[in-house]
Amino acid sequence: MAQVTCSFCGRNKKDVDLMVSGISAHICNFCIEQAHMILGEEEKTKKSDAAKPKFKLKKPKDLTTYLGQYVIGQEDAKKVLTVAVYNHYKRLLQKDEQDEIKIEKSNIIMVGDTGTGKTYLAKTLAKILEVPFCIADATVLTEAGYVGEDVESILTRLLQAADYNVEAAERGIVYIDEIDKIARKSDNPSITRDVSGEGVQQAMLKLLEGTVVNVPPQGGRKHPDQKMIAVNTENILFICGGAFDGIARHIAKRLNTQPLGFSKAGTAALADRENLLQYVTAQDLKAFGLIPELIGRLPVLTHLDPLHKDALKRILTEPKNALTKQYTKLLAMEGVDLVFEESGIDFIVEKAVEYNLGARGLRSICEAIITDAMYELPSDDSIKELVIDGEYAKSKFDKSKFKRLQVA
Ligand code: ADP
Repeated sequence: MAQVTCSFCGRNKKDVDLMVSGISAHICNFCIEQAHMILGEEEKTKKSDAAKPKFKLKKPKDLTTYLGQYVIGQEDAKKVLTVAVYNHYKRLLQKDEQDEIKIEKSNIIMVGDTGTGKTYLAKTLAKILEVPFCIADATVLTEAGYVGEDVESILTRLLQAADYNVEAAERGIVYIDEIDKIARKSDNPSITRDVSGEGVQQAMLKLLEGTVVNVPPQGGRKHPDQKMIAVNTENILFICGGAFDGIARHIAKRLNTQPLGFSKAGTAALADRENLLQYVTAQDLKAFGLIPELIGRLPVLTHLDPLHKDALKRILTEPKNALTKQYTKLLAMEGVDLVFEESGIDFIVEKAVEYNLGARGLRSICEAIITDAMYELPSDDSIKELVIDGEYAKSKFDKSKFKRLQVA
């Protein structure tokens, strides 16, 4: 009978412990072990490929350029945010687990009036990076066990935004709005339990720092039996924002000047009292009522500038999806050429300022002016051009509900 040899290494049956025979080939125990090892290696490479972050890392300057296509002004915030985001994602790329220099998380806190672009900046950044993004409102959160939402509910939204892809959610960005509304209610914590203020701040600490949280996939506490999903928040970037109404007082006090009125001779003479927010520090946040532990977990602090006329005008016309561009496109679909004259634009901006509506108000003012045309034009083929100048804008605006509003 012919000698049985391993079809892979050629070893003789008598030289091995085990020889497995197939239809027309044999394999010895050595080759089986080796094949097993190869399989293991292959599996490991596959896993580490899957674990590699899948997002588009762009440099801070490039990020700023992209942001500039959508967000007008706010140069300080853009710089601080893009650097923090870049560093955060570089941290995710840190391959060497044993490396002694661990890059820490760079969660961000933004201080700025409502409607100045805080949410918009965070959202646009997430879009550029192509990571899951969600907005959570700090005002609905309460300490666990009280009426309201637990802090975990924030992650339910992120999971939903990531289509329940846990791995993607774990690299996402969460924007927590109105963080100023969970400031400590009083300096004396012992009076009553502060379940929607300091209690929430405490509950958020672990989440911001990085922990594994069991998240109810559908949110809420109504289904105690629902299966929880474990989400690790270590690599989730948290961006918090708030208007912090009244913080200027604390800043002014610290700068030893007054928000309005006269500064003491020589003190902080350089301070731009119109925009005190630019001097905001962690100390002011503490004075406002954020607990030091929370401030410590939001190490990157930046401010947004108030939007004056010039900025509003640019917001109306310049961004990639500027409102004027959107209306022009809408009417072009009807075969109508929409032309915004300078005087028309100025009118819209003036009203936004007069009614104290900020950038958010631009849209409703435009609607008030253009709705009539958007109603009539689709049924009238004879009109091929619509010019919005100051006069046209004023005549439509005066007929709108705005006229009935008290000037703020
Ligand atoms: P905030 O979060 O600061 O209250 P948002 O980011 O929600 O304000 O801004 C409201 C809207 O106003 C945005 O969706 C955007 O269309 C517009 N907007 C605000 N600030 C800017 C800006 N700096 N550049 C471009 N658009 C802006």
